[in-house]
Amino acid sequence: MHALNGKTVTVILLTALMLGVLYCYISQTFRFVVSFQEEQETDDSSFRSSASVVLKTHVFHLVAPDQNMWDYRHLQYKQPSIVEGRTDVVTVTPWLAPVVWEGTFNPVLLDSIYQQQNISVAATVFAVGKYIMFLKNFLETAEQHFFVGFRVHIYVFTDQPNEVPQVKMADGRKVMVRSVPSSNRWQEISARRMELIQTLIEEELLKTTDYIFCLDVDSKFHGRWGAESLGGLVAVIHPGYYWDSRSKFPYERRPQSRAYVAPEEGDFYYCGGAFGGSLQEVHLLAKTCRLNFENDAVEGIEAAWQEESHLNRYMWINKPSKVLSPEYLWQDFKSRNREIHIIRFSGVVKNYADIRPNV
Ligand code: UDP
Repeated sequence: MHALNGKTVTVILLTALMLGVLYCYISQTFRFVVSFQEEQETDDSSFRSSASVVLKTHVFHLVAPDQNMWDYRHLQYKQPSIVEGRTDVVTVTPWLAPVVWEGTFNPVLLDSIYQQQNISVAATVFAVGKYIMFLKNFLETAEQHFFVGFRVHIYVFTDQPNEVPQVKMADGRKVMVRSVPSSNRWQEISARRMELIQTLIEEELLKTTDYIFCLDVDSKFHGRWGAESLGGLVAVIHPGYYWDSRSKFPYERRPQSRAYVAPEEGDFYYCGGAFGGSLQEVHLLAKTCRLNFENDAVEGIEAAWQEESHLNRYMWINKPSKVLSPEYLWQDFKSRNREIHIIRFSGVVKNYADIRPNV
């Protein structure tokens, strides 16, 4: 009985061992296949080949610095809570991206983390034709509120390089002027932005810059826009539609367009006037939107809100990893809603008939 039990036990153990070995072998092979496929996909994508991008991991590795080298105390700040905080707004999307509102982050803590990483941030802004008149205010207020204390390069694309105002900027911060042709169609000016952003990233920014934000010039900063806005792919909720149901969003509704979003689809309506993220993510976005816009044009279709429509379609498929609340792009003609505790960036009131080259 004993011997039989001993044998049975041995058989069971051997079988278990063999099964274990088999499992390890299969799972390793599976892992290998997956990573091999990932590599293949990566190699095949023209995005990688044109930009040869290596993803940086520092977004996921956040180090809070020692406050003082001599006494080794860490930065002091208010104790965080998971049961107290803003209850009037939603602060996370269904895919678990943070939605950034005043009161959901600690600016001092965030600055100390990202200053240690010595990140560099680029912003693009287009000032073509009469829109040059908005540039001074934009640049002056950016100097007061946009990533203060960080290395920032603002790339101004304009057809009037000599008219770019001189704005005094702190060390490590610069305005870079790039010439672009003028156009007699505002739709074209607006749409060409994606192409120019794509080229800027490929030709100038890849080696020097970590993050990029693409902003409308007919806007002003009123409050802090800083490290809390950093993320892989960053979208801003449009201030005009966030109380509406998705079927009312002004997405492109013609299925012939590559910007099409069906009435029962879409998460939020995002702004074309402010978006950003890591260079890699924004490069892919700009490249995709540009291609879709151009392919639509070949078939004689222009999306309802040009690149904003393509951006919205893109963000529906490629979920943003950080969503900025409408604090990050309000509109001066709108009175402030109750949930908006601070307006950080806002579009100025303008008369389209006076400033656009066509109607
Ligand atoms: N833009 C420009 N010149 C023009 C039209 C547009 O420089 O004649 C640029 C400018 O940066 C502007 C952006 O394109 O902020 C978006 O255009 P617009 O503000 O007219 O679009 P809206 O947001 O009002 O729909």
